[in-house]
Amino acid sequence: MDRDARLDGISATPWNDYAQLQRRWKALRSYGVAVREVACVGAPRTILAAEIGDQHLPCVAIAAGVHGDEPAATWALLSIVEDGLLDPRLSYRLWPCTNPTGLVAGTRVNVDGNDINRSFSRGGTTPESRAIVTANRDRRFVLSLDLHEDPEAGGFYCYERGGHHETGPRIIAALDDAGLPVQDLREDFDLGYPAGSEHLRRLERGRVIPDHDAEAKVFSGLPYSVYMRRPAQHVMTLESAGANQFERRLAMHRVAVVTAVAGALKVFPRGEPKQRKRVPRLKSLEHHA
Ligand SMILES: [Zn+2]
Repeated sequence: MDRDARLDGISATPWNDYAQLQRRWKALRSYGVAVREVACVGAPRTILAAEIGDQHLPCVAIAAGVHGDEPAATWALLSIVEDGLLDPRLSYRLWPCTNPTGLVAGTRVNVDGNDINRSFSRGGTTPESRAIVTANRDRRFVLSLDLHEDPEAGGFYCYERGGHHETGPRIIAALDDAGLPVQDLREDFDLGYPAGSEHLRRLERGRVIPDHDAEAKVFSGLPYSVYMRRPAQHVMTLESAGANQFERRLAMHRVAVVTAVAGALKVFPRGEPKQRKRVPRLKSLEHHA
C-alpha cells in the first residue's frame, strides 16, 4: 500500500476501532516491529507494546492514547511507524494505545473510571500504568514523548521537561514551516493545572516549560510524563489541536515526533551511550482468541 492509501485508510477507519488498530500494529511484525500484548495485572485486558531496533542503541519511548477521547494521537503514532518515519539510528519502545477501553468508549478515563494519566505514582495505581512502570524497570531512555490532544486548542503546543530545552522551539519552527497552527499560550489559557499554580510553569508560544520539582508535588497521582523524568533524560508531551480536522491533527504529531527524534539524534549520535548491561525486553502475553 502506498503512503497516501494508508493515510486514507486511517481517515476512513472509525477512530474508536481498537480491533482495527491492533490488526494494523500486528501487521507491522513482518517489517521487524516487535509487537506484543502486555498483560494488565489485575484486569482482564492487555495493552499493546512495540519495540523497534536494537534495544542497546539509545532508546526513545513514545506513548499515545492515555486519554481515550484524544484519538488522533493514537492513529498518528501508527501512521508514523507504518510510514517508516522513525530514524533507524535509535531504538524505540512504543505504547501505541495506553487506554484501549477509553478509546473504544471515547472517554478520557478507562473503563474503571480512572484517569490513567494521574496514576503513575507508587509503581502505577491503575492496571495500565502498572504494566508500563513494570516494563520500564531498569530501562533508560534518551527521550520520552507522550502524544495527546487538547480539544479546546486551535494550535499545537508541547510541554518540555529536562534535556537541553532546544527541541520545543525546533518543533514549533517545523510546524510553522509546514503551515500548521501553533497555539499562543497566555496566562488565561487553561492547561488543566490546579488554580494558583501559575508559578509551576513558564509559557512561550507553543511551549510550556514546567518547574519539574515543584510540579511533582502538586499532583496527587503522577502523569506519565512527570513519572518519565526518572527513566528519561528529556521528556516532552505533545498536544495536537483538537479544533482542527483529523488529518491536520495527525500531521501535527507526525511533524512533532520526527523533529523531536532528530533533536535526540543530535545529542546521541549512533552508538553512544550504549547501555552496557543486559537490556530487559518486554514480556509478552499473546492472546489467540
Ligand atoms: Zn490528554
